[in-house]
Amino acid sequence: SVTTDIPETSPDKLLAPVLSAFWDEPESWTLSTYLRHDGYQGLKKALAMPPDDVIAYVKDSGLRGRGGAGFPTGMKWQFIPQGDGKPHYLVVNADESEPGTCKDIPLLFANPHSLIEGIVIACHAIRSNHAFIYLRGEVVPVLRRLHEAVREAYAAGYLGKNVQGSGFDLELTVHAGAGAYICGEETALLDSLEGRRGQPRLRPPFPAVEGLYACPTVVNNVESIASVPAIMHRGKDWFKSMGSEKSPGFTLYSLSGHVANPGQYEAPLGITLRQLLAMGGGMRPGHRLKFWTPGGSSTPLFTDEHLDVPLDYEGVGAAGSMLGTKALQCFDETTCVVRAVTRWTEFYAHESCGKCTPCREGTYWLVQLMRDFEAGKASMSDIDKITDIADNINGKAFCALGDGAAAPIFSSVKHFRAEYEAHVTGKGCPFDHNKSTLWA
Ligand code: NAD
Repeated sequence: SVTTDIPETSPDKLLAPVLSAFWDEPESWTLSTYLRHDGYQGLKKALAMPPDDVIAYVKDSGLRGRGGAGFPTGMKWQFIPQGDGKPHYLVVNADESEPGTCKDIPLLFANPHSLIEGIVIACHAIRSNHAFIYLRGEVVPVLRRLHEAVREAYAAGYLGKNVQGSGFDLELTVHAGAGAYICGEETALLDSLEGRRGQPRLRPPFPAVEGLYACPTVVNNVESIASVPAIMHRGKDWFKSMGSEKSPGFTLYSLSGHVANPGQYEAPLGITLRQLLAMGGGMRPGHRLKFWTPGGSSTPLFTDEHLDVPLDYEGVGAAGSMLGTKALQCFDETTCVVRAVTRWTEFYAHESCGKCTPCREGTYWLVQLMRDFEAGKASMSDIDKITDIADNINGKAFCALGDGAAAPIFSSVKHFRAEYEAHVTGKGCPFDHNKSTLWA
């Protein structure tokens, strides 16, 4: 379900949907539908502007990266050196894999041309003649739809030689990954795209300086690039009229778990979970919120005390977590937090690429200890042991995967220490897991 109705609590933030405006229309993914909805109008404006002015415009809009880190998009484009004689590349990170995150894949499925238009604008801005979309390999129907949209865009002169008679040439390659979470990390993605095993590279140098084939490369998330056409067409002031001062604009939130109506919800940055739940019909009937993730499992857990935290980069940061991918996984009182964290830890251990010792060894040992809690074999000192291991991963791993694995450990012990203790004293899990299943 897609809805953008904002409850009465924020009448000043009323917003017509942008990215998801016509997802419900038949054949929403075709070029003709996109053109009916002002498609490729932002490109027209951008091609009439010098590249540096496009970069300045996007920078002034305040758009921040939607892949999780919130890095200013225009600033990233500005890092690309000019007049260096090297090819420049744009690589779109469509390897969406963060647990709970499901916004880029539906966006690509329903409205692929918003990404393609954004790619052409971005490449014009950074003076790139070749862009790549690195798509998560498992989503074959999305891959097919994307290939078809790219074919349509070539046929209509939005890609290829002399885009819309502007003299600007752009090739676009769609590449399917092979299903490794680590390949969503931007430098591992670049290694994978170059045909190597996907493992992170040391940064700096950042991709903007030395990226694909050692050339200056912008790596941007799907939603970030897909937001650019509307900013160009409807204006940076329109964009800045939504959200908060430092986190302006609209965005896609993924609401999942024990909620009445899971799905993608488009709303201004700065909305709260309470408001999103109001849009989504609340928790499943008869149950209350126990804990949730603001941005997928890699971001520290929140509890029902955080329902009114503004979901923007500053608000979530000040409350002790990260906005991340805006994947709001909501768990009710039937869920054992130790079990949920065990599942996530197993995921990180499985997906660790093994390149660095803290992540490879640390996630392995965390899984053993977390399973001990569930099996009634843990002792009280193991609670401190898991935080100690997480502490030896956090900030010491090669890439953000390690920090992501540590986040649920730290935050679950902080908010639910008593629940870990109950697993020790009760020699096992006090929860009936059948009650927490969504299918019961
Ligand atoms: P980061 O903050 O290190 O970097 C963010 C972006 O800014 C990168 O593109 C980086 O190259 C660029 N950057 C940062 N400093 C720079 C500098 N000095 N010069 C040039 N460029 C610079 O974050 P990260 O490690 O790339 O990503 C971590 C984030 O990924 C987390 O916030 C997490 O939420 C998110 N994540 C997303 C998914 C998903 O499926 N979308 C999966 C896992 C993690």
